Amino acid sequence: MTREFEDAASAICACCGARCCREARPPLSPRRIALLLEKGVSPGDIEYAGYYRIRAREDGLCAMCSGGRCRIHGYKPETCRAGPFTFDVEGGTVRVYLKHDSLCSLVPALKADPERYGEQFRAAVGNILALARSLPPDELAVISAIPEPDCDLVAEIPLDPGRHGGP
Ligand code: SF4
Ligand code: SF4
Repeated sequence: MTREFEDAASAICACCGARCCREARPPLSPRRIALLLEKGVSPGDIEYAGYYRIRAREDGLCAMCSGGRCRIHGYKPETCRAGPFTFDVEGGTVRVYLKHDSLCSLVPALKADPERYGEQFRAAVGNILALARSLPPDELAVISAIPEPDCDLVAEIPLDPGRHGGP
């Protein structure tokens, strides 16, 4: 998220109960893993399930969520920064989705403010492309196979055919 959007969103998120941090298991690039470990994140909080990700606790909440807040906020993964936008990749095309209002209370606030929407969309696309372009194709394919229910397609962007063909 951009700094400006974060400030405006903090009150909304404080009332939400961290819904987006439940069953999130955000994917991790090799660089992100190295950064998290350098910052003191336990290796046991990172797992591999076809791709590297932060594990969820037994109650479904992200292992990095503490007291309703992200304890790695300053260096959290790209998909966490991209919210409430999400993505998948098919045939070398990155498809960007926006969650429905029912999933995230920030969405109606974004839709009501085109300037802020544009800021967050650009930040989300930057984070999504950085992640997608840094992951091996097999990991990206597993991530892209995860269903994205209750979202609307808002953009399609070439992944980077020069790097690989994409899943
Ligand atoms: S689901 Fe939306 S409103 Fe709730 S904490 Fe996440 S970003 Fe904030
Ligand atoms: S890393 Fe932080 S923002 Fe991302 S899902 Fe976990 S607690 Fe939420």
